[in-house]
Amino acid sequence: MRCFVVSKSPQGEIGSQVTDRPESELPEGDTVIEVHWSSLNFKDGLAATGHPGVVKSFPHVPGIDAAGKVLESAAPHLRPGDPVIVTSYGLGADRWGAWAEKIRVPHEWVVPLPQGLTTREAMIIGTAGFTAAMCVERFEREQLSPGSGPILVTGASGGVGSIAVRLLTRLGYQVAAVSGKAEARADLERWGVSQLLRREEMLNSSSRPLLAARWAGAVDTVGGSMLPTILRELKSHGCVAACGLVGGAEFSTSVYPFLLRGVTLAGIDSAWYPAAKREPLWKRLASSWKPRFLEDAVTQTDLDGLPPLVQQILAGNVTGRVIVRIRNDSEA
Ligand code: NDP
Repeated sequence: MRCFVVSKSPQGEIGSQVTDRPESELPEGDTVIEVHWSSLNFKDGLAATGHPGVVKSFPHVPGIDAAGKVLESAAPHLRPGDPVIVTSYGLGADRWGAWAEKIRVPHEWVVPLPQGLTTREAMIIGTAGFTAAMCVERFEREQLSPGSGPILVTGASGGVGSIAVRLLTRLGYQVAAVSGKAEARADLERWGVSQLLRREEMLNSSSRPLLAARWAGAVDTVGGSMLPTILRELKSHGCVAACGLVGGAEFSTSVYPFLLRGVTLAGIDSAWYPAAKREPLWKRLASSWKPRFLEDAVTQTDLDGLPPLVQQILAGNVTGRVIVRIRNDSEA
């Protein structure tokens, strides 16, 4: 089984190589999947460099996203050859992940590939796109609609951000994007962004408890010092779906946006999103929520090509999505 293995030397040095490992080393589970496509998410970047917040033991195989076909399963509804998706839970974090020709997982983690998506497209979406969809689903719960006003997306050229933009514009929302990449402007405008902001514009250091109300909602992939500004700029009963921390894990705010504008700070956790809710959301992503321009800003690589892309995503320099072709015979 060919896989990308991260190891730690006795001196504590982290290294990685693409190598063969026996299938018997796969973790426990009642379902074996032949992986055709995977992807590179920010969390995979952390795993590939042995970040202790993600990797608990070595050797480790990263890869939180898998699409491929069932080889064997104890679950009667999963037949050999069925195309499937597995994203998150402990995949590629607590246990060996999808940067390998095979994964073994509990059948509860497996989602049948919905009609309307290929395995490759499922990985363009991946955990990043699923997370973006969770944010939009949360807006629905908060009764936001395109008529409520503009939605702000931070880290807009990244994985979660770029899919969020394309999903929201498809659904008719007016979208404002925060991006640190001048070169992403053309893509963001083609995807329908109506306002482009530089990161500095979202770092308001004034001590005013509230700022001019601008956003009905926000998909925040950055966190850190951007989140307090977003909270202070939300319109009455607006909602920020907080899903990321590329700009920092800590933030400081006051209670005023909550008390005076009734805003909601909604946490988004895709890893342990309930199994029963996954298939319906993937079905939406395959049909009425399928992001437009899905093939834009896709970098395709294989296991050998991952190391420089890992450095790039950790530096915040990836635009769009990186997908990983695991097998040479994976269908395009
Ligand atoms: P990417 O690296 O693909 O995208 C992140 C983007 O954020 C970058 O492309 C860049 O976009 C911007 N950015 C990077 N560094 C900084 C910085 N220091 N300050 C401000 N903006 C920055 O990562 P992903 O899309 O895969 O993940 C984004 C975040 O979401 C991560 O923190 C990840 O851990 C989290 N995440 C959380 C999930 C959940 O379930 N809660 C699931 C998936 C991801 P630009 O140049 O356009 O500004």
